[in-house]
Amino acid sequence: MKLYCIGIGPGGAGQMTNRAVRALADCDCVAGYGLYLDLIAELIEGKERIQTGMTREVDRCTAARDAAKAGHTVAVVSSGDAGVYGMAGLLFEVCADDPEIEIEVIPGITAACSGGAVLGAPLTNDFACISLSDLLTPWEVIEQRLRGAAQGDFCIALYNPASKKRTDHLRRACDIRLETLSPETVCGTVRNIGREGESYTLTTLGALRDTAVDMLTTVFIGNSRTRVIGGRMVTPRGYRGV
Ligand code: SAH
Repeated sequence: MKLYCIGIGPGGAGQMTNRAVRALADCDCVAGYGLYLDLIAELIEGKERIQTGMTREVDRCTAARDAAKAGHTVAVVSSGDAGVYGMAGLLFEVCADDPEIEIEVIPGITAACSGGAVLGAPLTNDFACISLSDLLTPWEVIEQRLRGAAQGDFCIALYNPASKKRTDHLRRACDIRLETLSPETVCGTVRNIGREGESYTLTTLGALRDTAVDMLTTVFIGNSRTRVIGGRMVTPRGYRGV
């Protein structure tokens, strides 16, 4: 019994790896959030769909497990990488008592990498990914991680920077970073990476604080060395002689 957990990258089929495309071709049943299934519609024509809403992740994984047990070759798809704020961990948990199911995780391009490429090269040195969603992680823990990243002068890729209910998390995150970084620090936001309507902004930490973002956006906070070079956001690695 086979269950693939596939990261499809940020956008449509063109952003998937060959391995992900091959795995999807091998499946006869696909589970995922509707938006992601629509992005890869051309690759899953004729396959059975297990489609649930955004917050029904446990139901989706359970249904995928049951379909695998019933003899289907199933793919659970996540945007970006399935192991980065995705479904891979949950799938292992849900299938913990079903050793007959072989789970194969297929990596995809996560938003930190695809969004970083849009902005330039903001993550060339050490960086941290932090999700500002406090649905599954208490806000105090998120603050602690922001402070830890600040202490290490990491560049930060912020996932889930806001939702309809949480509108001030980005401001709070910026305020923590402003404790030790200049308001002029280079920052960027990228929305709808690899999808129709992709857009980005280059800004400063001081201005980012008052920038409206949504859940389709990934935010990049530079470190003390990040600069704008030729209109792009770059964190130099430190090579000499340039
Ligand atoms: N597994 C995904 C992350 C899921 S968490 C990955 O590896 O990329 C959801 C968050 O990821 C969003 O709120 C946003 O911050 C970021 N994200 C994912 N796809 C994105 C895209 N195409 N454009 C911009 N941000 C994206």
